[in-house]
Amino acid sequence: MNSLQKLRLNTPVRSIKASIADEFLEELLNLDVTNVLDLARFIRRFRHLLPAPGPNRAIQGSLENGVLNWQRSLRAAWHQATPFGREITLLPTIAAHLSSPEDQAHPDAYASVLLRALHIVDRLRVCKRKKCLTPYFIWSPKRRGYCSDICAREAQSEFKRDWWDKYGLDWQRKRRAKKQQGKTKARKSQLKPRGGKRK
Ligand SMILES: [Zn+2]
Repeated sequence: MNSLQKLRLNTPVRSIKASIADEFLEELLNLDVTNVLDLARFIRRFRHLLPAPGPNRAIQGSLENGVLNWQRSLRAAWHQATPFGREITLLPTIAAHLSSPEDQAHPDAYASVLLRALHIVDRLRVCKRKKCLTPYFIWSPKRRGYCSDICAREAQSEFKRDWWDKYGLDWQRKRRAKKQQGKTKARKSQLKPRGGKRK
């Protein structure tokens, strides 16, 4: 074992694959909870990662209600402007989830997911495109400020359209005026006698 491996944190976050936790987080955050079919599909697919009842942690109400609440608390963290703000918002959620010594001794998969989110607070982002339907994402160099290539492209054309609506006519008028000016200048220079001394 090299010294770097020794330094790795020995917390429940090690028990979950990062790519699986990330996929689950993005799916949970972007889920349309008002769509009954989508909600049921989500629960079927990710039940093993949702909070499990612990010795001192009864799941309040139905699983469907739970999803709504877990989504709400995570979204609040995603919307914070700074990584520090996201840490502050996530910590009470994690502490509440693992409040009893029994739950800490036997953390569930959801605890690992929450810790994963805490470890990547600097990458929790909301898509910059206003009309985005799945705006919550985990930043990577490929994705930059948008959740997908589609949003990046759409945002660019939306920006162009908005710009044109705001400044297009004015820009067109100025451009025509400039062209007209250029033509008048050219005509005037044609009328002028050619320079240079004559013998
Ligand atoms: Zn998007």
